[in-house]
Amino acid sequence: MMLKKNLKNAANILNNAHALLISAGAGIGIDSGLPDFRGNEGFWRAYPPLAKLGKSFVEMANPEWFCRNPKLAWAFYGHRLNLYRSTVPHTGYAQLLDIARQKPGGYFVFTSNVDGQFQKAGYDDSRIEECHGSIHHFQCVQPCSDDIWEGSEITVTIDEEVFEAMEPLPLCRNCGGIARPNILMFGDWSWNAQRTDIQRDRLRRWLQEVSVQRLPVAIVEIGAGNAVATVRNLSAQVATNHNATLIRINPRDYSVPDERHISLPLGAAEAIKAITEIMEGEL
Ligand SMILES: [Zn+2]
Repeated sequence: MMLKKNLKNAANILNNAHALLISAGAGIGIDSGLPDFRGNEGFWRAYPPLAKLGKSFVEMANPEWFCRNPKLAWAFYGHRLNLYRSTVPHTGYAQLLDIARQKPGGYFVFTSNVDGQFQKAGYDDSRIEECHGSIHHFQCVQPCSDDIWEGSEITVTIDEEVFEAMEPLPLCRNCGGIARPNILMFGDWSWNAQRTDIQRDRLRRWLQEVSVQRLPVAIVEIGAGNAVATVRNLSAQVATNHNATLIRINPRDYSVPDERHISLPLGAAEAIKAITEIMEGEL
C-alpha cells in the first residue's frame, strides 16, 4: 500500500538526515485536544459565547478590541492562554524530539503556532522560530516602548457567563496601560516583532551552518494547511535551497510539490508514532 511505502521512505529519510527542520501549523495541536479554528463552525464550537455575538476568528484576532473592549479581548486571549497552559503536548512531540536530538547538525522548529507547545514538550527555546509570536509573552497595547516580557506569572480569570475577563487585566509593566499578547493579529500595526526577529536570525544562521557543512537535511512539516501558507512556503523554500526531502504530514492538504517529497495523509500523533516504530524496528 502507498501509505506504508511512504512511511518507510520517511523513516529512511529521517535515519539518513544529519539535520532536521520541523515546521508546524495548527494541525499539530489537534491530537493534544486543541481546536484548529477551521472556518467559523470550528471556531464557534470552541467559543460558543462568540457564536452568540456572531464574531469570527478574524474579527476577534484584531488588536482593536484591546482598546474598544479590553475585557472581551482578554476573555478571548485569556481563555486561549489558560487552555495552552493546561494542555499536555501529545506523544508525537516527544518522539520527534528524540529523533531530532540524534542529528549531529541538530534541529530547528519553525511554527505559526503561538501556543508554546514545543517548549512545553522539551524543545530548546533557542531552536524555535514562532513566526506569529507567542501568547506566553506580552507587550504594551499602545505600545509605549519596545519591551516584551515573559508572562508566566500573569493570570487571567474569565467570567464565562458574560465572556469577560475579570479585573485586574494584564497591564503594561512600563506605563500601567493595558497589555496584550505578543502575537501577530489581523490588521496589526503595533505588533512588536523583535523577539521573532531574533528567532528568525537564529534559524537563518543554523541553515547557513548546515549548508556550509553540507549536511543532509530532512524537513518534517506537520498540520500546516493552505489557508495560512507561511509554514508551507518556508518548507518548500528550504527543500529547494538545501535539496532536502519534505515529509508532509497532513490529513487534508497532503499533496507535495513533486514526487521527490513524501506525503503522509495522517494526523500528527499517528504519523510520528508509525515512523518511530519503523525506525526502531530497523535499528
Ligand atoms: Zn505601556
